[in-house]
Amino acid sequence: MTSTPEQRAKRAAYVREWNARPENRERVLAQRAQRRAAKRDEINAAAAAYREGNRAMLAEKSRAYKAANPEVVVAYRRATAEKHADRKREMKYGLRPGQFAEMLADQGGRCAICRTDTPNGNGWQVDHCHDTGDVRGILCHSCNVGIGHLKDNPAVVEAALNYLRGDSC
Ligand SMILES: [Zn+2]
Repeated sequence: MTSTPEQRAKRAAYVREWNARPENRERVLAQRAQRRAAKRDEINAAAAAYREGNRAMLAEKSRAYKAANPEVVVAYRRATAEKHADRKREMKYGLRPGQFAEMLADQGGRCAICRTDTPNGNGWQVDHCHDTGDVRGILCHSCNVGIGHLKDNPAVVEAALNYLRGDSC
């Protein structure tokens, strides 16, 4: 059966209208998902080729969008910051995702040494034993730097404690 351009346009308009009806939404989405799944490799390859061929334009589009929507950027960074931090802690200290938050919660949200709830500096530090690599606890910036300056050595810390407790002042 042949059809005229007018007939095809009319048919396309009807399909568009049918697809837009709320009662057909689920069927339309399911159909689209099915078609996409069947052609996934083809679609992914086309998308990759498009990105590759339009790098500069897409970068500029992204830059312009970010400049016009700074609040979206801030919200995204906030939402992903903890995830990125968790990933870093996993790589560096072997903490599984969420473990840092659990440890800090176990410490009452406070530094394991001075009990401050304001970490300062670069924020909370994962303190670990430099010999075994084992994580000891979460410290504020000052305490982490402090025990580092005391050579991470209990004997030196104890000597400092005795010194502070002595009647030198
Ligand atoms: Zn502290």
